[in-house]
Amino acid sequence: KSKAKLYDKTNIHVTFSDVAGLHEAKQEVEEIVHFLKNPSKYTELGGKIPKGALLVGPPGTGKTLLAKAVAGEAHVPFFSLSGSDFVEMFVGVGASRVRDLFRQAKEKAPCIIFIDEIDAVGRARGKGNNFSGNDERENTLNQLLTEMDGFGSNSGVIILAATNRADVLDSALLRAGRFDRQIYVDLPDLNDRKEIFLVHLKPLKTDKTVDVEFLARQTPGFSGADIANVCNEAALIAARSDKSFVDKDDFMSAVDRIVGGLEKKNKITT
Ligand code: ATP
Repeated sequence: KSKAKLYDKTNIHVTFSDVAGLHEAKQEVEEIVHFLKNPSKYTELGGKIPKGALLVGPPGTGKTLLAKAVAGEAHVPFFSLSGSDFVEMFVGVGASRVRDLFRQAKEKAPCIIFIDEIDAVGRARGKGNNFSGNDERENTLNQLLTEMDGFGSNSGVIILAATNRADVLDSALLRAGRFDRQIYVDLPDLNDRKEIFLVHLKPLKTDKTVDVEFLARQTPGFSGADIANVCNEAALIAARSDKSFVDKDDFMSAVDRIVGGLEKKNKITT
């Protein structure tokens, strides 16, 4: 049985308005939304829609969020799986999971398949480390390539995948008719950080000491996920001191905490 989680159109509530910044990336996926909503238009005119697009960028920048928003905007089902879910110790399990996933998706077309961390399964063949799961991973990758080639470009199944390591991917995945489009999802600049703060401040009760411009300036290098964390931490800090509003000091403490956490993470990885 495939572990793919099926969200149907009634429970994907994410739309483009939840995705702050990422203006170019949003523009690029808009064509996919349009296709999913009007598939016959494309077939009538003889156009070929790309089968898939690869979302490339650092962790926490909104790749998953953007993929969900495509499904939410188009009101289509969203099948999501992580590349690491495919990679199993038992021979044949990964490949059969891939088969299951595509079978389910074809039944529900038009729809989106989202594969997070595609690098876990899509690393260049023959170049991986030597642990025993490697052949199994290659089988899984081969199955994925077979499935992608096996349906027509107008079948209504669009495959989005995410990675922060496009450089390690097997070139076969990037060939025409597979993930032939790459969409960059970068860390937010000052203005994008303001927009992301605006989204994540919305549910909070803040007082007037809280200024978006100031917060954006205090958080260079933060991802969207880091900013979401800051907002949540600030609310927790304020609640702990029994305040009725979240104020600037709470945000400053939250930023310090997140910076501390990021520094620790970087120390471990370097
Ligand atoms: P990873 O590579 O770690 O899987 P990702 O790029 O898929 O990360 P998401 O999982 O989409 O990142 O982001 C995590 C959370 O961070 C989102 O659910 C959202 O709350 C927040 N976030 C990230 N980017 C944005 C953004 N551009 N606008 C609004 N919120 C964002």
